[in-house]
Amino acid sequence: MDVIEVFKTMQYGPAPESSAAANAWLEDHQRKFGLFINNTWKYPGDADYLTSYNPATGEKLADTVQAGQKEVDEAVAAAREAFQSWSITPGPVRARYLYAVARNLQKHSRLLAVLESMDNGKPIRESRDIDVPLLARHFYYHAGWAQLMETELRDYQPVGVVGQIIPWNFPLLMLGWKIAPAIAMGNTVVLKPASYTRLTALLFAEIIAEAGLPPGVVNVVTGSSKAGTMIVTHPDIDKIAFTGSTDVGRILRRQTAGSGKKLSLELGGKSPFVVFEDADLDGAIEGIVDAIWFNQGQVCCAGSRLLVQENVAERFIDKLKVRMGHLRVGDPLDKSIDIGAIVDQTQWDTIDKWVQTGVREGGSLFQPKIEMPAKGCFYPPTLITGLDPAAETVQEEIFGPVLVSLTFRTPAEAIELANNTRYGLAASVWSENINLSLDVASKIKAGSVWVNSTNLFDAASGFGGYRESGFGREGGREGLFEYLRPAWQERPRPDLELPGAEPGKSTWGNHTPDRPIQPGDSSTNGKKALSVNRTPKMYIGGKQVRPDGSYTRAVLGPKRELVGQVGDGNRKDIRDAVEAAHAAHTAKPGWAMRHGYNRSQILYFIGENLDARRDEFARRIADMTGCSQQAARAEVEMAIGRLFTYAAWADKLGGVVQETTLRGITVGVNEPVGVIGIACPDESPLLALVSLMAAAIARGNTVIMIPSEKYPLSATDFYQVLDTSDVPPGVVNIITGARDHLTKTLVEHEDVDAVWYFGTAEGSYHVEYESAANVKRTWVNYGIPRDWSSLEQGVGHEFLHHATQVKNIWVPTGE
Ligand code: NAP
Repeated sequence: MDVIEVFKTMQYGPAPESSAAANAWLEDHQRKFGLFINNTWKYPGDADYLTSYNPATGEKLADTVQAGQKEVDEAVAAAREAFQSWSITPGPVRARYLYAVARNLQKHSRLLAVLESMDNGKPIRESRDIDVPLLARHFYYHAGWAQLMETELRDYQPVGVVGQIIPWNFPLLMLGWKIAPAIAMGNTVVLKPASYTRLTALLFAEIIAEAGLPPGVVNVVTGSSKAGTMIVTHPDIDKIAFTGSTDVGRILRRQTAGSGKKLSLELGGKSPFVVFEDADLDGAIEGIVDAIWFNQGQVCCAGSRLLVQENVAERFIDKLKVRMGHLRVGDPLDKSIDIGAIVDQTQWDTIDKWVQTGVREGGSLFQPKIEMPAKGCFYPPTLITGLDPAAETVQEEIFGPVLVSLTFRTPAEAIELANNTRYGLAASVWSENINLSLDVASKIKAGSVWVNSTNLFDAASGFGGYRESGFGREGGREGLFEYLRPAWQERPRPDLELPGAEPGKSTWGNHTPDRPIQPGDSSTNGKKALSVNRTPKMYIGGKQVRPDGSYTRAVLGPKRELVGQVGDGNRKDIRDAVEAAHAAHTAKPGWAMRHGYNRSQILYFIGENLDARRDEFARRIADMTGCSQQAARAEVEMAIGRLFTYAAWADKLGGVVQETTLRGITVGVNEPVGVIGIACPDESPLLALVSLMAAAIARGNTVIMIPSEKYPLSATDFYQVLDTSDVPPGVVNIITGARDHLTKTLVEHEDVDAVWYFGTAEGSYHVEYESAANVKRTWVNYGIPRDWSSLEQGVGHEFLHHATQVKNIWVPTGE
């Protein structure tokens, strides 16, 4: 076709990017790669190799090692050795290294982009203009944090050796999102790329070595999921950072449970793309193209659920079908194609199976009549309409170029549909009405919300999920905390013989209620029960209620004398408390929706009322624990101080305007996590309860508190303080009883968003293990007591971090 003909038809001609440099690089390595450990290639003599293919052409690209235990051990040892010096290398020096890496990545950007497209099948336009520039951006951005760490993050230390496991959809980008913050903060890394896409991680390894990064700081180990397991379970790994499917995320949560390893999970999604009647419909159509056909829809945050307001739905879908007819599917190295190849035939088959399911579920299938390549792994852009919101195809992640579409009538219905998913990774909201779009953005439960835009990313803004899309953030200041631990804290190494039986089958948390305590009972050292027999109560929904089972527990003093009784809670009490905690969110205004000023006033009021009864609370602590009156008074005083501290924080942690590359505003909002179950320790029974409760409710969470099992009377006395402090019903619920028994019900409860557990090492293991079912956030102490009176350990950012999750709302401005 000549230029005149092109002008006549206005058709695109082919504009292929050359693969010569990438092929030359592969040839230089004889198309056979070892593992990258200590900045050198290791070719284990007895290793198996896996062949990588170009999914667009089927041609062989190279063979890579399937690492085994010996190789994983070697890589972890290299990273451990490097950690000794890298972790104490001054931040500004580390910054220079990251800067050099970023510069070097830019120098090799074309080679990186071409190889990425050949290995993964993504259009060169995307690898060249998005993946590789963003990769470099992450190293520049985090070079900045390395520079500033000593002043801005001086209360923190690196975590140690980090195992990082990444998926195949953005091989380079995922690697950059993980490696840059980890090494900036002084950690060293063992990274395993996904099996379909190993090659650019190996090229990256060469590039960082060329940039002079010291040996062992970053090690790349290729291997199957078995090698992944070896990394995850390796005793000398301090943290696992994982991006991939929710199912594998759950496995990793269970495998790391109780080990003291930090864990961050970036998992799947089924993100809503919401179009209101007043949206710029043509703009929204282009948004859809980016949302679901970017990277062939193999994007965790793909806008794969289209929700359109009913009165414009028909027009919108007609326009969309026309636009789909203009999409070009073809050679990923051709600069003028829109949709490249699916990563592998297995993934193609999965996508196709989902499409057939959608049809079986009653959906109408639309695939435009466009030219498709004669060979290679290509799937046409696909739209399925007319499905039920509960259909599997609407609920499950397809991870391909398949859009499902539903309609709604009102904004309230749009929000309900948008949140009708177990995921919570991202959302896109289209409306010309700023009030509406921002209101909807604030009500959708997702880590990133794009207003009149989609799939915007930047290193300065954290990315990550709510609910079963995982926890932890990558990018922004918020993402750094995944690679840091408080300076005072040693890596927990619980001395725990991990129970052989699966938690479901173990006896942990089983409990037989005490028999009722009688006056003069011999189990109480012969001392008489209290003269006035108070009926022990729970505190649920703002009311003191009798325990469901009517059982009680004796509270004994240091000489085993009876100092009181409390109710012995059961599953039903916990379920009632969870219901009350949820109701406190949906009340109007819900606790989270109240402004911080209001929450702070209530916290100050609790402090005031505790202060009025300080002597009584001090006496109780001394009676229960046997500590001196002076120590007990100091504990009460500190508890009052904590209430004032979190009253202060109630209106001072709203969020920040992130300095991203977007022309517009990216607002990082610190949202509450939701309903939090909190099991309190035995040490400092009042102070610990107040510190944990106040941090959580200050930031808009509602809580179910399980007080110290041994010393619960400070909590039951606290009911009256709460009753007189204007705390709305259900914001704080208190269930006394056997800590592990009650925690078990909490952690198994689907409507609990997070569990904080301060108990035993074994209990910590079970909490982390069971939390995998709905990917709850957890905070556990692995049986290690902390000093609640200390300013480092008993209060501060660590508490606020666990009480919040960051949502980033992107609002482009201007033309
Ligand atoms: P995947 O099957 O979960 O695999 C991800 C990585 O984990 C791969 O390196 C894989 O190795 C490894 N792996 C698999 N099973 C493992 C195990 N039992 N133990 C340790 N490692 C194991 O996910 P994928 O199919 O590659 O990627 C697609 C998923 O990633 C989608 O669900 C997508 O939404 C999600 N994702 C999320 C984000 C985010 O930021 N939230 C970003 C991108 C993708 P092999 O490749 O060798 O099997």
